[in-house]
Amino acid sequence: MRQSLTRELTNLIERGRDRQLRLAVTGLSRSGKTAFLTSLVNQLRHAGLEARLDLMPAAREGRLLGARRVSQPDLGVPRFPYDQAMAALDAEPPRWPEPTRGISELRLSIRYRPARRGLLRADTAELNLDLFDYPGEWLLDLPLLGHDYLSWSRAMLAGAGEQRRALLAEWERVAAGLDPTAEANEAELAEVAALYAHSLQAAREAGFANLQPGRFLLPGDLEGAPVLQFFPLPALADADDSALAKLPPESVYATLAARFRHYQQHIVRPFYRDHFRRFDRQIVLVDVLGALNAGPERFEDLSQALATLMQSFDYGKRSLLSRLFSPRIDRLAIAATKADHVTPEQHANLTTLLEALLAEPLQDLRYANVPVKALSLAAIRATEAHEVSHRNERSPALRGTTLAGEEVLVFPGEVPAKLPEPGFWARQGFDFRAFRPAPREGGALPHIRLDAALDWLIGDKLQ
Ligand code: GDP
Repeated sequence: MRQSLTRELTNLIERGRDRQLRLAVTGLSRSGKTAFLTSLVNQLRHAGLEARLDLMPAAREGRLLGARRVSQPDLGVPRFPYDQAMAALDAEPPRWPEPTRGISELRLSIRYRPARRGLLRADTAELNLDLFDYPGEWLLDLPLLGHDYLSWSRAMLAGAGEQRRALLAEWERVAAGLDPTAEANEAELAEVAALYAHSLQAAREAGFANLQPGRFLLPGDLEGAPVLQFFPLPALADADDSALAKLPPESVYATLAARFRHYQQHIVRPFYRDHFRRFDRQIVLVDVLGALNAGPERFEDLSQALATLMQSFDYGKRSLLSRLFSPRIDRLAIAATKADHVTPEQHANLTTLLEALLAEPLQDLRYANVPVKALSLAAIRATEAHEVSHRNERSPALRGTTLAGEEVLVFPGEVPAKLPEPGFWARQGFDFRAFRPAPREGGALPHIRLDAALDWLIGDKLQ
């Protein structure tokens, strides 16, 4: 107790002196969080040596001296597996790191020379940077706090498109047979819940992102626990609300409603209360190219998922989040990842497309006066840009090695600068392949604009 109080106090003092910053990285599964955090740590550790961080004034001016890992303050949070990630990238052939599945943390102590040296300022200073990585799926659960079981159930079934509906069909057929007023049968509910979780997984594998509840996709140590055994009830669509409220606790309806409340109180709230509320800065990663590749319904679904996810950064006075948790993130970046999948002249379009995809949430954030920057980047660049001549015309191309080990030279396609219109999907042929990371010749990992992201997120603390 005493120790943790001392730790809290030290944290407070360090924060007061601008010596501590909590930076969180999030994004939906496969958006590139693990690659991003691995590269970020790698770049800072090589700062002042081989890292190319020209878009970061502190590095360009030679003031960034380096970083080392120190023990993290939050003992209950798993450590981000940086060494394993680097081992995968250094394997032969190189592999992408295994993605993390829950929240993880790593603390870096960054040494730099302040730009202005005053009377009382030392020659060098240190910034403790606490890095967090957590699944964006967890943020999809925020709106769930604004619902009760009945309204959530109805909302879930109302919004699904045709392809999503097809993936839910088997679960829906079984769940439609459940009578909300009947006595609950544990085994039966567990079975229907498993089917529901399974259909969410299938939807995710099919490229959908707007899936709730988030923990059903990444259950971690909650796998099989009754708190994850609830689901919307199709029979509630046109049930009488007051009759439902009178049902006994053993009924199917009341049992599922109790589990829903438990999920809200013991899973969703603690994440916001114990972690989210304490982040200072945040970067949200988005795999825009992956969604473009997957077609119109997935793209629309990503856009809805992002709108939901971004509600966690809407600090308007009346927002659900501000009312519940008073968070304090004071700067936000959103980034389209894997920019090395397209040729460099497409990067500007990739950023504008990301901005178009997030137009509404961005507007809200600017209105709420939260500084936000959109950019495109590659945390770990796996391709090289080339030009090829064909009949006297020069055109851009990419050289890389596919996951299967085949060396290719491709032009992957054009990225639209605006949200694609219906005709676009019929016309456009994309060939965004997955590439294997390039073998590393020692030193820092190759990247595109990771330094710009870093500067936006921590540069002001290195002045
Ligand atoms: P996470 O689930 O958000 O942690 O995503 P990962 O970091 O595991 O990334 C998912 C996959 O995207 C990786 O296995 C890579 O195939 C790919 N990827 C991530 N970042 C990059 C990048 O900068 N460039 C390229 N070419 N691929 C990337």
